[in-house]
Amino acid sequence: MKSTALLLLLGTLLLLGQQKKELPQPRAVTPGALPGAPPSDAIVLFSAGTGVDGWTKPDGSPTGCRADNNLMICATGAKDAISKVKYGAVQMHLEFAPPLMADQKGQLRGNSGVYLQGRYEVQILDSFENPTYADGALGAVYGESAPLVNAARRPGEWQTYDIVFHPHKCDADGKVTEMGSVTVILNGVLVQDHHRIQNTKGGCSDGPLLLQDHSGFKGAPHTEMKFRNIWIRRLD
Ligand code: MG
Repeated sequence: MKSTALLLLLGTLLLLGQQKKELPQPRAVTPGALPGAPPSDAIVLFSAGTGVDGWTKPDGSPTGCRADNNLMICATGAKDAISKVKYGAVQMHLEFAPPLMADQKGQLRGNSGVYLQGRYEVQILDSFENPTYADGALGAVYGESAPLVNAARRPGEWQTYDIVFHPHKCDADGKVTEMGSVTVILNGVLVQDHHRIQNTKGGCSDGPLLLQDHSGFKGAPHTEMKFRNIWIRRLD
């Protein structure tokens, strides 16, 4: 009888110890008024209201992209567009419209790219009925990971990227100890599911968003890439 009481007491103490502590309430964030619009804690990198002031060329001079009719238009020769804002872990939203270039094929159709921290390219390419190597298609982490599916819209139509990015982790000497990851949703369709980034160049320092000017590449024809509604939310 005595041992039963003792067991009961022990059991009760164990249960009390396991009782869940109350978790802190989640921080309130007001979502955008329309789907895709920036939520209240977003940093807007380009919108109808901002113009292109938040962007430079790689040499730090004013961007060669232009604000036109509430769009950011980056034409061949504009050079890569670099955001003044640098970031670590982020959620990102971006809308883009590759042009129709029916006389071109593969990588020479409308081609740009979203370089996370200026280093890892999530490919922008007109991949609608335009085959190319799989890890260079729209939705690819260029040279590392083909998209799970081809969710491209027709050229000229607006498309969306929603990206969750976690950078590499480094030790005190700047050596990468844990690979970062990227999840990419293209036009509402999952195309990269927590891909572990293999490229460790650049280490762990924060970096900008870079929008690629593909014109430096061999034989690349004149291209006008349109962007709108670009924002990030820091996840640090
Ligand atoms: Mg590209």
